[in-house]
Amino acid sequence: MGVLSSRFKDLFTYCQQPDITVADFSANQHRPFVLFKPSISSSASTIQQLNSLLEEVQNLPSSIDTLSSTAIDTVHWSLSSGTFTAASLYNFLNLLPKIPSNLRFVWKLKVPPRVITFTWLMLQDKLPTVDNLQKRWMVLVNQCSLCRVACESSSHLFNCSFFISTRSLVLNQSEMHYQSLPPLHELMTDKGFPIKVAELFALTCFWAWKERCSRIFKNLASNPDSLASLVLDDWTLCQTPRH
Ligand SMILES: [Zn+2]
Repeated sequence: MGVLSSRFKDLFTYCQQPDITVADFSANQHRPFVLFKPSISSSASTIQQLNSLLEEVQNLPSSIDTLSSTAIDTVHWSLSSGTFTAASLYNFLNLLPKIPSNLRFVWKLKVPPRVITFTWLMLQDKLPTVDNLQKRWMVLVNQCSLCRVACESSSHLFNCSFFISTRSLVLNQSEMHYQSLPPLHELMTDKGFPIKVAELFALTCFWAWKERCSRIFKNLASNPDSLASLVLDDWTLCQTPRH
């Protein structure tokens, strides 16, 4: 059944007894809110999560004979017969989706480590964009802070009119006269483009993300010209040989 604290994350942040056993929780099912902090939200999603948790716990006695207020909860390794084995974990990890090999180029880019980490997350759609946050139950208005027209997602951010303008300025000022570029992961595997174009592209994405965050969290906005200057300054530093 997995770990309840990770499956019901929102509820767990309100739990007053993080170490409570399933048996004790089950004994309090008739008044579940007693177990949570008074500040618990009574939003529809919280109530829905609580109902799911209660339903799951209620169904447990039919499948687990030992569930009772006197039974002892023990740690159970669900990937094997109950006891941890390295082989079961290894087999489980092998079943997880593999990182596409064409993304590994990211680690070869000569850009600062923070840009590499950002690019790695971006290419796997792991950035905390509004659409990704909404998938984690956060209630947010979804509007791109750069163009204020479209909804924000990883795929939109790096096709946003603001981003396209910035990238065009960056390409022109760096004297790389490409009218259009494919997505970053295709750019890297296309032999027609030098690696420095991909590095410039990654830096532009990074600074566009910083601009997006600056608008949301600091209420500060730059224009594509200013942002392009920052990208090119950063890129010049990356190109400078280190002794
Ligand atoms: Zn936009």
